[in-house]
Amino acid sequence: MPCEPGVGRIRAQQTMSSVLIHPTEAGVTAQNYINGEWLASDSTFQSLNPANRNHVVGTVPVASRSQVRDAVLAAKAAFPAWKNKSWVQRGEIVDNLSQLIKRDLEELSRMVTIECGKPINEGRADVVEALHMAQYVAGLSRLPIGHAISSEIPAKDAYILRKPKGVVGVITPWNFPFAIPLWGILPAVLAGNTVVFKPSEETPIVAHKLAKLFEEAGFPRGVINTVHGFGEDTGDALVKDPDVNVMLFTGSLAVGKMIQQSAASEVHKFVVTEMGGKNATIVLEDANLDIAVNAAVLGAFKTSGQRCVTSGRMIVDKKVEAQFTERFLEKVKRIVIGDGLRDDVFMGPLISQEGVKKWQHHNAKAKEEGGEILFDGQVLTGPDHANGNFVEPFVYRFASYKPDTFCLKEEAFSPHVAIIGVDGIEEAVRVYNDTKYGLAMAVITEDYRKFRYVRDNADYGLGYVNLPSIGAEVHLPFGGVKGSGNGHPAAEGAIEAVTHKVAFTVNHAHEIVMAQGLSTTL
Ligand code: NAD
Repeated sequence: MPCEPGVGRIRAQQTMSSVLIHPTEAGVTAQNYINGEWLASDSTFQSLNPANRNHVVGTVPVASRSQVRDAVLAAKAAFPAWKNKSWVQRGEIVDNLSQLIKRDLEELSRMVTIECGKPINEGRADVVEALHMAQYVAGLSRLPIGHAISSEIPAKDAYILRKPKGVVGVITPWNFPFAIPLWGILPAVLAGNTVVFKPSEETPIVAHKLAKLFEEAGFPRGVINTVHGFGEDTGDALVKDPDVNVMLFTGSLAVGKMIQQSAASEVHKFVVTEMGGKNATIVLEDANLDIAVNAAVLGAFKTSGQRCVTSGRMIVDKKVEAQFTERFLEKVKRIVIGDGLRDDVFMGPLISQEGVKKWQHHNAKAKEEGGEILFDGQVLTGPDHANGNFVEPFVYRFASYKPDTFCLKEEAFSPHVAIIGVDGIEEAVRVYNDTKYGLAMAVITEDYRKFRYVRDNADYGLGYVNLPSIGAEVHLPFGGVKGSGNGHPAAEGAIEAVTHKVAFTVNHAHEIVMAQGLSTTL
């Protein structure tokens, strides 16, 4: 079994063409979008609704390596003219996009839910977050993009400016199929770069709709290209293309690490990797347990535990662990699981059968490693669930921390939750830090001194107090530390990763005067 998401799924998806196509739901035919043209490929695959695998959402081309090359060359050719537009001119096209997203919000939200399974309120939140990103980036186009700064020499003007880097490759995961692509693509194009976008093979139809909106918004040909396909071919071709200057990758640690390693041999290539997490909610002895239990349920089970920020660990002070656990389990039993288009559903399906196998593997490891099983979630096979990838939550407990276990260290990316008893705040933080990841941490406490201790001693990129470990706003940075990210968060500040910061100095005198008193006489 693969331990990291995605590694084994690629092969599973490639065999899906044998799946029955419902006669009335043949779905969308997606195409690659290269240099302003809509292009097919020699081979195709099908995107299936994870709530009903008999529903083919669409048929999708597998872009060949030479099509990826064409897309990169198109982006390279479009770069000079695009970078010579003003930031405000580029921002106006981004603003067009934001208006189109607003126009199509309900249709897009439904498509997100149909293709990636998350309940419709989450599908809508994904699209709303994308809308906010477009609005934010359009607004940035009228804000300072550098600054003037004093020189040691009075007759000199000095500036710090930002210049685009060229062709940016964007590779994204499936779980926020509309918002995450825009976290990278929009800052990149606003700054004057051009883009080749390789969306997840799990959610290509959402990506196709997005590409249609790029065209309608008026991005010139070649500025944003979209190539569909699987990671090991289409994605790999993009990562290794010599004319790609920046790779913006969001996905699993296993793939992010490979991308970092492959880019390391090309000195001009700058790589951003936003990866997974083994996040936690820390419940301290003084916690308000209403907040703690709600935060735990939202943090563990939104998107069926398939968020990078999902809390798979509840690190709970032993003084309140029994109470917390009882109330947590009460809520777990009430979770409604089903097709995300139904309003009463809290948890939709897992993305694929491979995701179900991964969840089973993590559950088996928890049993093998001595976890006390509190809620032995099963695969759902009843009439409402038979054709979907539906599973129940799986909850277990370690009365005391057990280091060196697979189940407490590896990302499960599913509704798989450990409750771990700890003695006090210092052990809580030690246990929290004891993974290779450092993405999201929530602490539940009423004591400002305690949350300050956790704030300053835990390893995370996203910290929350009296909240679940999930939730993003586009004007805040989004990223992690350690194995979760290499220090270039998405959303706020993403402009930094896609631009060079340059110093530019102008002499207004009639002779040369140098800083540091450097002599200019021969
Ligand atoms: P994944 O790593 O399997 O795939 C992500 C993307 O990488 C896909 O487009 C895939 O086709 C591509 N890819 C796969 N192999 C490749 C290769 N060899 N070369 C180039 N590209 C390749 O991840 P996923 O299953 O789509 O998403 C889940 C993972 O993403 C989880 O680990 C989750 O925590 C993480 N994630 C992180 C963030 C974040 O902001 N930190 C956000 C969402 C998801």
